[in-house]
Amino acid sequence: MLNAKKAKELFEKNQKILVVLHQFPDGDTISSSLALSVYLKRQGKKVDLAVKEEIPEVFHFLTNGIKIRDDFLLGDYDLIIAVDCGDAQRTGFPARLEQISRIKPLINIDHHLKNSLHKIATLNMIDTEASAAAEIVWDLLNYLEAEIDSKIATYILAGIYYDTGGFQHANVTAKTLKIASQCLRRGGRIGLISKNNITSKSPSGLKLWGIALNRVRINANGIVSTYITLNDIKKSGAKSDDTSGIVNLINTIPNSKIAILFVETPDGTIKTSLRTERNDIDVSVLARLFGGGGHKKAAGFTLESNLKSKIMA
Ligand code: 5GP
Ligand code: MN
Repeated sequence: MLNAKKAKELFEKNQKILVVLHQFPDGDTISSSLALSVYLKRQGKKVDLAVKEEIPEVFHFLTNGIKIRDDFLLGDYDLIIAVDCGDAQRTGFPARLEQISRIKPLINIDHHLKNSLHKIATLNMIDTEASAAAEIVWDLLNYLEAEIDSKIATYILAGIYYDTGGFQHANVTAKTLKIASQCLRRGGRIGLISKNNITSKSPSGLKLWGIALNRVRINANGIVSTYITLNDIKKSGAKSDDTSGIVNLINTIPNSKIAILFVETPDGTIKTSLRTERNDIDVSVLARLFGGGGHKKAAGFTLESNLKSKIMA
């Protein structure tokens, strides 16, 4: 696999390793980072994980008992690995990573298109064909002849599961299913993953979905959209990560072209999620126009604005 030999050398040479997850962490960045960190710890490395925001509760079954930092000191590490980050901004620590990349090795493991992180990384392990960063970590661990036990297999399977929407999206390839099958053979706990994903909706979370679904609109160009305000979250008693999944549901309307969900965040921005099922539409192009990014069929960006002035008008 691309650059695996160089990654192996960097792992052998360096002792204190920091694994950086992306902001608004999802199942792929969490699981891929955990799989890699379990391997590195077994090699006797000192490994820390860092992410700018808190890990959403739905993923606590994966991170249970594992300390994840929300900040770090550059001087504490010999090697930094960014996993599934999309671009430098999305790591949550762009200035610091740029600074460190000048003096220490930075590995960028990603399945997003080349991006700003790509430019500052010492080593890029990018495969845009991979359904999830977890597929790349899987390849790397196999190259390293890591022992894939039930724990690592569950993490890899979880990364793939989340980024493919439970094996439903068009990013699933023959390789994806082959890796998933190998993970199952090694004790990957698919039941645990799907149970925590599908049957973990709280009553307040469902109420929030109700509010958003009640507002769905489709315009003449086939754009389906809805939004959630901070007040909706407060009123329903839901948590902000209860919004995850809504955009996939509104994307199921037949003949729609693009589904958009706008969510107001406590820091006064609007987190925007884009989805399409069409092969002739690339929503990452639209996301990039607004400073975001992503994949052809799932992308997003953050607007420095408020909902009232931009969306509800
Ligand atoms: P979601 O809508 O689930 O938050 O994000 C879907 C995908 O869009 C993510 O996997 C990621 O690739 C991309 N994405 C979402 N938000 C951003 C953003 O603010 N910046 C970038 N570069 N990519 C994003
Ligand atoms: Mn991913």
